[in-house]
Amino acid sequence: MLDILGIGFGPSNLALAIQMHELNVFENKKVKFIEKKKSFVWQPGLLLPNTNLQIHFLKDLVTLINPCSKFTFINYLNENGRLLDFINLNISCPSRFEFNDYLTWAANKFSDYVIYNSYIKQINPVVKSGEIQYFNVNYIIDNEEFNVDAKNIILASGRSPKIPEIFSHEYDGVSIIHSDKFTSTDLFEKTKQEKDGICKVAIVGAGQSAAEIFNHLIENMGSNVKLYNFIRGYGYNPSDSSPFRNQVFNPEFVDIFFQLEKNYQKEILNNLSNTNYSVVDSDLIEEIYTKLYHMRHIEKSDKATILSMTEIEKVERTRDNKINLTYKDKLTGNNKIEEVDYIILSTGYDQVFIKNKYFIGFNDLLEQKNNGEIELNRDYSVKFNVPSNSKIFLQGYSESSHGISDSLISVIANRANIIAKSLMLKEVISK
Ligand SMILES: Cc1cc2nc3c(=O)[nH]c(=O)nc-3n(C[C@H](O)[C@H](O)[C@H](O)COP(=O)(O)OP(=O)(O)OC[C@H]3O[C@@H](n4cnc5c(N)ncnc54)[C@H](O)[C@@H]3O)c2cc1C
Repeated sequence: MLDILGIGFGPSNLALAIQMHELNVFENKKVKFIEKKKSFVWQPGLLLPNTNLQIHFLKDLVTLINPCSKFTFINYLNENGRLLDFINLNISCPSRFEFNDYLTWAANKFSDYVIYNSYIKQINPVVKSGEIQYFNVNYIIDNEEFNVDAKNIILASGRSPKIPEIFSHEYDGVSIIHSDKFTSTDLFEKTKQEKDGICKVAIVGAGQSAAEIFNHLIENMGSNVKLYNFIRGYGYNPSDSSPFRNQVFNPEFVDIFFQLEKNYQKEILNNLSNTNYSVVDSDLIEEIYTKLYHMRHIEKSDKATILSMTEIEKVERTRDNKINLTYKDKLTGNNKIEEVDYIILSTGYDQVFIKNKYFIGFNDLLEQKNNGEIELNRDYSVKFNVPSNSKIFLQGYSESSHGISDSLISVIANRANIIAKSLMLKEVISK
């Protein structure tokens, strides 16, 4: 029986591993993490050149809890012999490549505890005399099924790409993909190649991922490619990362947010959505504008176009396997059709999926909100409606109860610290 099983080994469970290391949990507890990928990599589908971390590097895996830890970003720079070179860059947001390298450096220190290339299928509670005793977890390695018992589970398997209903019947992961897989698809390679005939690519969405892909393709696409970015609003909205706004990402704000009445929590989340959702970093907006200006006025080219104020209403496959996008131009009220070869959906992520994915056999044991979301305690543990000797903690699925920072890196050190301390309480660790 494992004392602690982590599902997924991305930044959230990596931060937890660090907290458990610093609190000496590994010394006397049986701990394993199960991770779907073959080795550690952070958000590989959008690991593009010239993209940066969107938070200060001091909000790394551990600094906010223990600035003297050996797992800080600064120590990573130091161990890799480039602390001074980094200082001379004079930046607070390193490239995503470098931050991925930092995370990989930290993750490699825990490789004895991680089973890579395997994934969790289902969690089943073992209930005796009306009380949850432990969990039996079903996982797959190379198509073979295994089971393991665990006293406590920390679920941090990330979010699930959102495919809007209107695209779902034609979605094939080849000609229509989600931005989450951008770098791992054929499309990424194909748009770089020079070919005969025009290849039209539509990007749907107005957030950071859409803008990053648009910007990347403008620079790297072959001369036969034509690019469209379908946007519901009028151009990109800038993300608000001003200092007062940034205070909502402070760990203390989670305490404030958690004890608010539900309707105020909703109001705050709506009010803060322009810090994270459907918004683009201002520097990137400037960069794209400059490129489009140059393209349109100097090169006299219409190879890349932002179609603002558009609503896609119909998606149909043509006989020659292209895709017709019927959309409303909200500025004129007219319906138009664009035939494209590829569609990249930068349409965000879903965090509600976990209930039906992992908790399917025991939904009836969960405390749930009116909208069906799982109720959590402040320490991120799931509320059961029966007594339980064991706990399941969720990392990254509690924006509605713990606030807007929940899916971001800003709070991962503090959240991991809370969970690690909660795990150390006697009643949740088996003897
Ligand atoms: C392109 C991109 C850039 C981002 N940049 C920033 C940023 O700059 N700043 C910021 O604060 N946030 C950023 N984010 C938000 C992002 O959510 C966090 O950076 C971070 O990745 C969250 O870590 P996580 O471990 O919770 O989830 P993830 O990083 O998604 O990791 C989850 C892990 O679980 C694994 N997994 C999934 N299912 C299973 C299963 N069934 N069994 C086993 N393993 C499984 C996955 O393979 C993955 O490795 C970004 C997100 C994206 C998509």
